Amino acid sequence: MKKFDAIVIGSGQAGAPLAKKLALAGMKTVIIEKRFYGGTCVNDGCTPTKTWVASAKAAYMAGKSVDLGVPVKKFGINMPKIKKRKDDIVMQSRIGGQHAAEKVKGLDVVFGEATFTGEKTVSVKLKNGKKQNIQADLIFLNVGAKPFIPEIEGLNEIKYLTSTTILDLDYVPEHLLVLGGNYIGLEFGQMFRRFGSKVTILEKSARIVSREDEDISAEMQTILEAEQISVLTHAQATKFKQKAGGKITATVSVNGEEKKVRCSHVLVAVGRTPQTDKLGLDKAGVKTDDKGNIKVNAKLETNVKGIYALGDVNGGPAFTHISYNDYTIVYRNLIEKQSLSTTDRLVPYCMFTDPQLGRVGIDETEAKKQGLDYKVAKLPMAHVARAIETGDTRGFMKAIVDAKTKRILGATVLGPEGGEIMTVLQMAMEGGITYDEVRYFIFAHPLYSESLNNLFLALED
Ligand SMILES: Cc1cc2nc3c(=O)[nH]c(=O)nc-3n(C[C@H](O)[C@H](O)[C@H](O)COP(=O)(O)OP(=O)(O)OC[C@H]3O[C@@H](n4cnc5c(N)ncnc54)[C@H](O)[C@@H]3O)c2cc1C
Repeated sequence: MKKFDAIVIGSGQAGAPLAKKLALAGMKTVIIEKRFYGGTCVNDGCTPTKTWVASAKAAYMAGKSVDLGVPVKKFGINMPKIKKRKDDIVMQSRIGGQHAAEKVKGLDVVFGEATFTGEKTVSVKLKNGKKQNIQADLIFLNVGAKPFIPEIEGLNEIKYLTSTTILDLDYVPEHLLVLGGNYIGLEFGQMFRRFGSKVTILEKSARIVSREDEDISAEMQTILEAEQISVLTHAQATKFKQKAGGKITATVSVNGEEKKVRCSHVLVAVGRTPQTDKLGLDKAGVKTDDKGNIKVNAKLETNVKGIYALGDVNGGPAFTHISYNDYTIVYRNLIEKQSLSTTDRLVPYCMFTDPQLGRVGIDETEAKKQGLDYKVAKLPMAHVARAIETGDTRGFMKAIVDAKTKRILGATVLGPEGGEIMTVLQMAMEGGITYDEVRYFIFAHPLYSESLNNLFLALED
């Protein structure tokens, strides 16, 4: 049994930086990774998808170029090249992160699958088939999540795609049927439409991006439909059938009516599930909820003292920046002796459709639910000088403010650079800057953020 001060399982957006910093702080640390260094964000999530979003945008702009007086007469999609560009960027990040970790004194990087054998003991099935038993008083779980596959008749008999396997395609599917109208499904759906696929999106709720306000969902649907993406809501696939090597027929219930959709490929994007099933958590006595998420307190410690769970696996908001923030909380509490917690942290996020959907704080639905005394400021992108000049006036900005204190409580920006504009409002929220102050700020002209003046000028005092 090899002894360490700290064991980190999973090299995601919390585990990788935490392992390095613990070793640099003088703790003998081991990080175990069963697949690729860097986890989901680097290998199957943010990095690869955003490189493809960039390629898809180039295709979209080529198609639109005539509107800007620069007609591109003919353009094509070179999918092997698009894939290679993505693979190169992913490899750079994966290998860069791995090599940096391997150079840290006091840090062992081990490739293999870790499972608990006792409360503070772990067995690692190494890539060469051998086993290594290790022990530490401090254990950090950053094992992430994987695509959730629903039980639908015939689904396992077709070669369906997930957000991971779709990234291996080096050709453009003829007709992509996407199960799920949330951020992963919509990002892939729009990008493959732009690469030339026919795309149908099925969403079982009444609207896509259903955790956002209704007007946001409606505008998003209009934007996607303008690109000839077929969006079916109240829609659930109930059965799949595939002719030998041929087309797939999906039976779909839309508003209770049965419909057949014939497609060439199916992408399953209906959520993610924590990778805790093979971790042997029962051996350590670590508790999970009914979905398999590891239960943690506000300081990210599990019910077992000294065992922490960070990132997607603790069931918090599943974003890279939240996983990273989990790491800073745990590290600063342990090493810098602070008392930080997840309570009341702002959770910004951005969906990288084009245009982007940036969101922070509460929306109108939440303000209503909480019975707050609030006002709503809304500005269509069609009234934003920068958007008009750039030729993209899709979407709108929306902010919720406290009627009395004038504090900004939340913002959703669906529009070009929506994530960046949202971040400006996030800074105001973090700094306690009120909307009547933002109204008269001097912003450089003509930036998108300049229109934050107008967003709040529309509000009566
Ligand atoms: C298609 C897609 C697009 C996304 N886009 C964005 C985006 O634009 N912005 C954003 O903020 N978020 C995005 N996300 C979410 C984001 O990728 C995750 O929230 C983020 O990577 C945090 O993951 P994590 O740190 O919890 O763990 P992960 O990054 O998932 O890492 C967990 C690691 O643990 C390893 N592991 C698991 N079990 C074991 C074991 N028993 N032994 C050893 N190793 C193990 C896994 O192999 C994996 O490498 C996206 C996700 C997907 C799927």
